[in-house]
Amino acid sequence: MKQKTKSASKFLPVCEPLFNGREARYALQAVQSGWISSQGDFLKRFESGFAKYIGVAHGVATTNGTTALHLALVAAGVGAGDEVIIPDFTMIACAFAVCQTGARPVFVDADPETWTMDPKDVERKITSRTKVIMAVHIYGHPVDMDPIRELARTRNILILEDAAEAHGALYKKKRCGALGDLAAFSFYANKIITTGEGGMVVTNSPELYKQSLRYKNLCFPLDGNRSYLHDDIGFNYRMTNVQAAIGVAQLERIDSLVTARRRMAHRYLKFLKTENRLQLPVEKPWAHNVYWMFGVILKPSVTRTREEVMTALKKEGIDSRAFFQPMHRQPALVKAGLGKKAGFPVSDHLAARGFYLPSTGNLSEAAVARVCRVLRKALD
Ligand SMILES: *Cc1c(COP(=O)(O)O)cnc(C)c1O
Repeated sequence: MKQKTKSASKFLPVCEPLFNGREARYALQAVQSGWISSQGDFLKRFESGFAKYIGVAHGVATTNGTTALHLALVAAGVGAGDEVIIPDFTMIACAFAVCQTGARPVFVDADPETWTMDPKDVERKITSRTKVIMAVHIYGHPVDMDPIRELARTRNILILEDAAEAHGALYKKKRCGALGDLAAFSFYANKIITTGEGGMVVTNSPELYKQSLRYKNLCFPLDGNRSYLHDDIGFNYRMTNVQAAIGVAQLERIDSLVTARRRMAHRYLKFLKTENRLQLPVEKPWAHNVYWMFGVILKPSVTRTREEVMTALKKEGIDSRAFFQPMHRQPALVKAGLGKKAGFPVSDHLAARGFYLPSTGNLSEAAVARVCRVLRKALD
């Protein structure tokens, strides 16, 4: 995903990882120490350091965000016969992680302003089989958690946050990832902090922590007993110490990486606030948005198609990406009998008219100005 042109031909990618801390030094140290698999100091430091940053007791590093979601669901005891409520407007990994447990994903429509799951639709979709509500903080804006926590609390439903796009985001002054029973993060190259590939489950619950550790490592007994007898079917979702070394270096700089993302967004907002042909990202009074990606939506009045606008940007060396496709239309999920023809008007609208602009934290004011200039012209 990383693209860099040597000449200053000013191709602006959607996102680039920023490695100007101790990433290379720590990775080299991990290699030189000989601890390159899934034991070693960097792993312990990354797990405990990241959990502390989020404000929870435990962290369990995994191979990626998708396996973190799957591991969290398995640790929570989700399986065949259960239902898991997920947003219809989200990344495909959310649905696949649920399907891989044997449970059934149930989709809810999006809130038109925050683009995250609509709590009123969550309430409508709860059944006696609902085991987990997966709250996904889309593009860095937190889900409105209080109504969802209230629904879950009174019905004995667990909350799993997917905070893959929301490192450092806050809901009512509390970090995303510390708002439910457990949470999954991703450290893919385009996320706010990265380990190349990587993920983590975080939780305050000693029991969910124990189950996450166990299932992550083939259900080897946690007491170190090497009888080679396994009580359950586990997975190998272990992160390497080399990746964790990169993660420790990124974690040292997480505050500045989050601030950089917000600065990038504020620059866009400044240049686009008078542009009434676009719907822009919001920040609710109760939210601290980390703007993982700066998304815009073409208002109904715009006659240009999204594809035309994106092509016009590309011609000027500016990359952009269409928003997620809604879950209810995903061929794999339709094939699995989970497709729906209608019932998700907001999600359909976002998916048809939304796209995101270059969102790297170090975008200069001049670069943002250029993107906005080209974008406005493309809307004419
Ligand atoms: C990136 C992402 C994931 C998956 O993470 P990977 O590390 O790519 O497996 C899951 N959910 C959301 C919302 C994401 O953005």
